[in-house]
Amino acid sequence: MRLLRDKVIQEGIVLPSGVLKVDSFLNHQMDPVLMREVGREFSRRFEGEGITKVLTIESSGIAPGIMTALELGVPLIFARKQKSLTLTEDIYVEQVYSFTKRVTSDITVSRKFIAPGERVLIVDDFLANGEAAFGLARIVEQAGASVAGIGIVIEKAFQPGGSRLQEAGYRVDSLVRIASLADGQIVFADES
Ligand code: 5GP
Repeated sequence: MRLLRDKVIQEGIVLPSGVLKVDSFLNHQMDPVLMREVGREFSRRFEGEGITKVLTIESSGIAPGIMTALELGVPLIFARKQKSLTLTEDIYVEQVYSFTKRVTSDITVSRKFIAPGERVLIVDDFLANGEAAFGLARIVEQAGASVAGIGIVIEKAFQPGGSRLQEAGYRVDSLVRIASLADGQIVFADES
């Protein structure tokens, strides 16, 4: 996606830890026009998949997620990240290790928002090792629903998340793919 690629080139900052900082348009300040285009693009790619819900994780997945849900005409659910849980009766819970924060947290979704048989599109801002996407997929499957696909805004293709998810049978569609962040340089992989 050209617009997104240009934004990454102009505003992305490579941190030494292999993290791409995009807090001027995605992770802190958000660019609504770009998010609308992201939503349109995911909607175009996944239309015809019979999607009934979009599922993301707080907080940076919410902007691309809500725009995608708006375009598809379905609700957005965002999984919550919680440190420790006491009551777990009414919620689905999965453990997810955070690549950027280096901590494991519980992610939760209320049982009332995913019904058996639903077709759920997972959307997230970044894909690195795939922990967040796998956690979300396990929640969908716990609910007896199916994962229609995984839409990623920025995939770091030098980390194994994309291939791990595809090997597990999921369709992964990334709007830009980054092949390397070595030496502070952003190198793009094949891009559609
Ligand atoms: P994964 O779970 O695939 O290992 O990592 C994806 C999650 O970690 C995303 O939800 C995102 O919040 C965060 N993340 C991973 N890599 C990056 C990165 O390079 N930059 C930013 N801003 N977030 C990242």
